[in-house]
Amino acid sequence: MKTDWETRRDIVACARQVYEKGIVAATDGNISYRMMTDRIMITPAGKSFGNLSTDDLAYVDIDGNILTFEQKPSSELPMHLEIYRQRPDVNAVIHAHPPFATALTLTGNSLSDPILPEVVMMFGEIPTAPYATPSTQESAESIRHLIKDHDAILLDHHGAVTYGSSLDDAYLKMEKLEHTAKTILAAKTLGTPKILDGDQLNKLKELKNKSSYGKHIVESLFTAN
Ligand SMILES: [Zn+2]
Repeated sequence: MKTDWETRRDIVACARQVYEKGIVAATDGNISYRMMTDRIMITPAGKSFGNLSTDDLAYVDIDGNILTFEQKPSSELPMHLEIYRQRPDVNAVIHAHPPFATALTLTGNSLSDPILPEVVMMFGEIPTAPYATPSTQESAESIRHLIKDHDAILLDHHGAVTYGSSLDDAYLKMEKLEHTAKTILAAKTLGTPKILDGDQLNKLKELKNKSSYGKHIVESLFTAN
C-alpha cells in the first residue's frame, strides 16, 4: 500500500504525463487513487495538470464526503466514485479529454468495432457512453451500465475515462485509447477500416486465455461473428 506522500507524488507525475502527452488542456481532466477501502485521493477542481502540486490533492471517502477542506475535489468526483463502488479491483481512475478520441464521438463514430488486434486483447471493446452534462451526477449515471465489463469508456461529446489496478495501468489505457483513435481516424481518411472476422477474433481469444493480457475481454465480441 502506498503512503500518503507516495500517492501524492505519483498522481502529480501521472497528471504531468497526461498533460505533456496532449491528452488534456487547461484545467481539463481529473485523476484519483484509492488509498484504502474507504479513502480516495483526487485532483482538485480548476487546476491545470501542467502545474499541479502535491499539496493540491483532496481526500474524499467512498460516499463523496470531503475529508480535506482546504482542497475542493474535482467536479467529476461522482464518476470516479461510481467506478470504485462497482469495481473493487480498481485503484486508479483517469478522466481526460483526448482530442482524437473525442473527435470520434463528435461525429457519431466510435471505437467499439474490433479492428486492431492489440486493442481487442487489451480492452475487448471500447464503448461510448451516452451524452451527459459534464461535472454533474449525469456523468456517473451515463457510464453506470458499462463499468463492470470495460476498462475504458468514451464519453459522448466530452472525452474518455480509463481505470485499472494502478495509476500506470490507467494511464497506459488512456494513452492506448487515444493512439487507437488516431489510427482509426487515419484509416478513415484512406477508406473504410476492415473489421476482424470471427476466426481472427477466436484466435485472439485463445491467445488471451493463455496470457494475463487484457482482463475484460467481452465474450459477446467473440461469439457475435
Ligand atoms: Zn471532462
